[in-house]
Amino acid sequence: MTDQHFSQLFAPHARETLIFTPTPLHRADNLSADLGIELWLKRDDLTGPGVFGGNKMRKLEFLIGEAKAEKKDIVITYGASQSNHAMQTAAACARCGLKCILYLVALVPPNPMAPRGNILLDILFGAEIHLISLEPGETEEDGYQKCYAQAEAQIRRLEAEGHSCLNIPVGGASTVGSMGYAAGYLEMREQLAQMSHPPFDAMYLATGSSGTLAGILAGRAIAGGEESLQAVCAGTKGGIYESAAAELANEVLLRLGQHARVGEKDFTVHREYVGPGYEVPYPA
Ligand SMILES: *Cc1c(COP(=O)(O)O)cnc(C)c1O
Repeated sequence: MTDQHFSQLFAPHARETLIFTPTPLHRADNLSADLGIELWLKRDDLTGPGVFGGNKMRKLEFLIGEAKAEKKDIVITYGASQSNHAMQTAAACARCGLKCILYLVALVPPNPMAPRGNILLDILFGAEIHLISLEPGETEEDGYQKCYAQAEAQIRRLEAEGHSCLNIPVGGASTVGSMGYAAGYLEMREQLAQMSHPPFDAMYLATGSSGTLAGILAGRAIAGGEESLQAVCAGTKGGIYESAAAELANEVLLRLGQHARVGEKDFTVHREYVGPGYEVPYPA
């Protein structure tokens, strides 16, 4: 498929322009020399509005596009207390005049008197924040279940009042959101082609909700890319993580009208770098 066709793939889908594009594809000269390889960075930290979690904005282009196309006035999403996705969603909503409601699991309980980092930004972006604390013995997953139950009740109340809500899953990892990374992968291919640079041998990315991974898998399948795909977990993930990511990628392919399909063998997930847990810093 040619680059011309790539851009047409996304034309039928509502999209809100939120990012500076293309993000730089940057050769890290010193690291390349040190490591004896050729190392490039796709600088998606520079997509635009927020400081952290620039990758979320690619997904939000399609998610906010959908919200506006369907005349939603409220966007609801979920994350840990310092979630980049939640903060980027708050930023995108502020930019587009949508009300943003966040349900955040207080994995590391924030200090209400001195909010820091992304929670501080969520407040500045005008989001309505619901902090859900964990009782002793409760897991992160328990926290999310409490979020979903409370959000469901709030959505019912809001819709009874005449509002219309878009409910975005953790990380924006839905079929609509992940289309953003099919587009992101194809953007990178185009940049390489413009430089007459051969395709990469391997591509590494951090993975959390798997929305980015699924989108890249879909994009690679569309382009017939052959680089190995190595996804490094930022949090503890269960055994069905790989199959769920492949399934999400296949939903993206289906939505984009593609026949190609992917499977678990098309990528590798690394679980060995998590440390004590998601959002928990440690010396290394
Ligand atoms: C969210 C996030 C990831 C993981 O992306 P997913 O699409 O959720 O898997 C990686 N790095 C950063 C900085 C993030 O904010």
